[in-house]
Amino acid sequence: MLVLKKVVLDSIKSFVIKQRMRQIRKELSDINLEKVEKQIANVNWRTINAFKKFNIIKELKHSAENSPYYRDKIPELIKGINYKNALSIIPKLPFTTSAEVSVNSKQFLAVPKSEVAGLHFTYGTTGGKKTIYNTKRDLNLINYSYTLGFINCGIEKKDIAQIVYSFGVWQLAEYILSALRSVGIITIPTGNYVSFQDQEEYIEKFGTNVIFGTPSYVYNLSREIDLSTKVKANMKAILVGGEGLPEHRRKVIEEKLGGEVFINYGLNEFGGGIGSECKCHNGYHIFPNVIYEIIDPKTTEPVEREEYGELVLTSLRREAMPLIRYRTGDITRIIDGECDCGLKLPRIDQLKGRTDDRVVIGAAEKYYPIVFDKLFDSVDEIKDYWIEVVSENDRDSLKTYISARKPSEKLKAKILEKFYSLDSLKIDIETTKTVNKPEIIFIDKLPNSAKRRRLVDKRKFKT
Ligand SMILES: [Zn+2]
Repeated sequence: MLVLKKVVLDSIKSFVIKQRMRQIRKELSDINLEKVEKQIANVNWRTINAFKKFNIIKELKHSAENSPYYRDKIPELIKGINYKNALSIIPKLPFTTSAEVSVNSKQFLAVPKSEVAGLHFTYGTTGGKKTIYNTKRDLNLINYSYTLGFINCGIEKKDIAQIVYSFGVWQLAEYILSALRSVGIITIPTGNYVSFQDQEEYIEKFGTNVIFGTPSYVYNLSREIDLSTKVKANMKAILVGGEGLPEHRRKVIEEKLGGEVFINYGLNEFGGGIGSECKCHNGYHIFPNVIYEIIDPKTTEPVEREEYGELVLTSLRREAMPLIRYRTGDITRIIDGECDCGLKLPRIDQLKGRTDDRVVIGAAEKYYPIVFDKLFDSVDEIKDYWIEVVSENDRDSLKTYISARKPSEKLKAKILEKFYSLDSLKIDIETTKTVNKPEIIFIDKLPNSAKRRRLVDKRKFKT
């Protein structure tokens, strides 16, 4: 009798879960902007925590059972996981690194191949490409997380968006397009392969008032086009992501294009869409599709509250490729307290940089690419630049490729002067002699890659 009772109860339970899942799938495939806006306005710490606990149990059990990578790493550690201890178990789990995903992405695939509905790719620290798998539901969730970003930036259904990200293997542009379509916003998908003048024409013709692109592309676009007063006044928001944005560039973009710049934080390994700035522009609100921790990158111990450290993320509700305690390499900190915008989603600060992006030049000084952005943005003639760090005669050499308005010897001297204004670099060139005098090479156009790195360490690939 007892057994029968259990069987009946179990089947009722499974029926209810299936019904609920069907309902969620339906909700996710057709996203109602106004409805999501209301949901988000109502979240608070308690609901977020409850959501996290409920979903982390499912995520960890799913990973332990179905992910070849986690199958023998976590089952023992999550034995006895329940609603009470769910969040405290996370720090006891092992980390996942970018290198592990790039060496063999497939070992993270936790569903049968037939369930995979989409792929995208991302470069790993080891130089290899990572394959990121998504089920249909994962793709819908990606749409949903981008929608949260739209709401944060005040985007409405009546807006006209233009995507100037590159379309291709990176897939960010496609995901944004898909999310905009699923909420019903007209989008002009120009990508970044048309000329700046063509972009301008599209903006003028369709009255684009929301632009999506990488900070460097949008910055260059803003300097190359002159929008009519009417279109400029109508411009609402410029959403950038994928790279850092120095504060002075934000000002230039806002002055030249009109509208307000919002920086979004995403990670390809999670399908993008992790957090976004709100109208207060004080850090990124983190969406509830991840659990975050900040650790000391050296000791891997948690840092003190509000201290800077490396962001570690655990995915929630990812079917195809759950990632547990993934080391993002991004340096940031938690911002405590409530945001003036009223949204209760927690915040992290603007990224200080990506640990992967730092390049050691000369006598062990580490440089973030942003240092060189600041250096060259003050030279008006420079349109864009790209630095390769190579090894020559046992010294570091900075091969600096410059796209300039009027290349000249005078400009070369001006650029050199900028390099020498960095004290640490000047010392390494003149005193420690670990760095050669930078070489300036004028070129017409920089290589057109989707997410360009402006500071490239070519020495890594020699060994
Ligand atoms: Zn806010």
